[in-house]
Amino acid sequence: MPIIIGLTGGIGSGKSAAADLFAARGINIVDADIAAREVVEPGTVALQAIAEHFGPDILLADASLDRRALREIIFTHADEKKWLETLLHPAIRTLIKQQLNEASSAYTILVSPLLLETDQHTLVDRLLVIDCPEADQIQRAAARDQSGPERIKAIMANQLSRDARLAKADDILHNHASLADLETQVETLHQTYLSLAQRD
Ligand code: ATP
Repeated sequence: MPIIIGLTGGIGSGKSAAADLFAARGINIVDADIAAREVVEPGTVALQAIAEHFGPDILLADASLDRRALREIIFTHADEKKWLETLLHPAIRTLIKQQLNEASSAYTILVSPLLLETDQHTLVDRLLVIDCPEADQIQRAAARDQSGPERIKAIMANQLSRDARLAKADDILHNHASLADLETQVETLHQTYLSLAQRD
């Protein structure tokens, strides 16, 4: 199997922006956030279990998951968050593995906000961390999500600390400047990963 690079970083650090730049170079991206949505689509076993556990009010009129309502519950109830993670993490991991197996580019990127917080990191050969000052994270994520800085800070408090993440990195993208600057760094890493893939 081609080498797998795990790309992670805190909320608003630029994971999607960086993944898009690798994708533009023909690299297959497996996105854990997308997998997490796919496992709870209407008709899935997981969505049925969620509806049984939380009651039918957790579903919208079209029978899809009311993600906002679920987010509110798990934000304030640690035990319900744990229950949900026990249900979803294995399903997400299985789907990610399947998508990684289907990848066909020289190397593959698994982008995930929870790569280090879950066992998803055991699926990757090398860890790429995208990093920027926390003030940039808050400002960019708040602008993108049209939410208040307090909400972004609360999510950051639930994620691994910046230092802990950086300590585990094999490679780092420093995203404190422009998107053009990020692209220059991505291009350099892309060449490195292509050489690593050839050696493999
Ligand atoms: P999340 O964990 O919330 O999914 P993320 O790490 O994927 O976030 P992005 O969505 O890529 O982060 O970036 C957050 C916002 O900041 C986006 O609107 C993105 O376009 C913008 N952004 C990312 N990098 C830069 C940059 N260097 N300069 C300006 N804006 C940026």
